[in-house]
Amino acid sequence: MRDVIIIGGGLSGLAAAVELDNLRIAYTLVEVKARLGGSISSRQQDGFIMDGGASVFPAAADWSFLPELGLNDALFELDSRRVAFKDGTQALTDALVRRLKGDLMLRMAVSSLGRSGESYAVCLENGLMLTARTLIVAAPARYAGHMFRTLQPDISLRLWDYGYDTITRVSLGFRRADVPLIERRIWDMGLPFFYELEHPSRVPPESTLFHIGVRYPLPRTTPEALIATLQTELEWPKPPLVSWVTYWPEADPIPPHTAAFREDMAALMRLLPDGMALIGSDYNGLGLGERFAAGVAAARQMAAFLR
Ligand SMILES: Cc1cc2nc3c(=O)[nH]c(=O)nc-3n(C[C@H](O)[C@H](O)[C@H](O)COP(=O)(O)OP(=O)(O)OC[C@H]3O[C@@H](n4cnc5c(N)ncnc54)[C@H](O)[C@@H]3O)c2cc1C
Repeated sequence: MRDVIIIGGGLSGLAAAVELDNLRIAYTLVEVKARLGGSISSRQQDGFIMDGGASVFPAAADWSFLPELGLNDALFELDSRRVAFKDGTQALTDALVRRLKGDLMLRMAVSSLGRSGESYAVCLENGLMLTARTLIVAAPARYAGHMFRTLQPDISLRLWDYGYDTITRVSLGFRRADVPLIERRIWDMGLPFFYELEHPSRVPPESTLFHIGVRYPLPRTTPEALIATLQTELEWPKPPLVSWVTYWPEADPIPPHTAAFREDMAALMRLLPDGMALIGSDYNGLGLGERFAAGVAAARQMAAFLR
């Protein structure tokens, strides 16, 4: 039997895993996808570094956790209020992944949680069952809601209706001279967000990188058609040099992180059985520093329980 099973290999689950390594506690991390990092991913192409998920962050956020990951000088200022990662946001999750020492089970979907005597049972979609003395669930609310159905139905019911806004993120790299005066037209279109990155670590000389949010669901179109529509609407004289389109059906949690929401989540956390933590941006804070801190705190909580 394992001491700890972590479900979900996004920033929250990875931070928990690295802290368990620091505490010399054995764990198994189960992740449904083939890669770790969750909603953080970056891609390099022809000198451009594009973010497929989280990209731009408040400068005033707590970044004090970066140096311990060897990321002392990892950010650049977009303007006085916002920062981004020089090597793409994935530099953060890559730094965590490099430190992992525990067992990793990728491409394994957890379907349900239960009890097996004094320990927890984690059932995978392929029929396998794992057992552990403690559990850290670091998966989004929609999936966690399913997992908790038999173990703690009250938690499941509270997570069942958790809603999300979808977003399609379009990254486009251009030669600077090919896209004059585009910014004003983008705001005229009412797109949910638009960032322009020109830092030399992210683009080749004389180039620029746009990150554009589109609320149109990608499954109803194709990346090529979406880029062609943007090109027509925004009157770009030339197509982009590089592009990357990513679709996130569960991007922005619809319950806003208000005081009432935080109280609801605190009440939900009190329903968790002993030896179990539920962490992630859907429950307790959206910022990257908060995700990291929640992962570390969950690992320490499990260590205390095991003692
Ligand atoms: C599109 C997008 C853009 C964002 N942009 C910003 C931004 O600009 N600024 C900012 O501050 N924040 C942003 N965020 C939020 C930020 O990315 C998150 O706070 C943080 O990355 C969440 O990490 P997490 O580990 O809590 O969740 P996730 O990254 O969602 O990780 C959860 C993991 O659980 C796995 N999982 C799910 N179900 C199962 C299952 N059944 N079995 C096993 N594994 C499972 C998933 O595959 C995933 O890897 C953005 C998020 C998204 C989605």
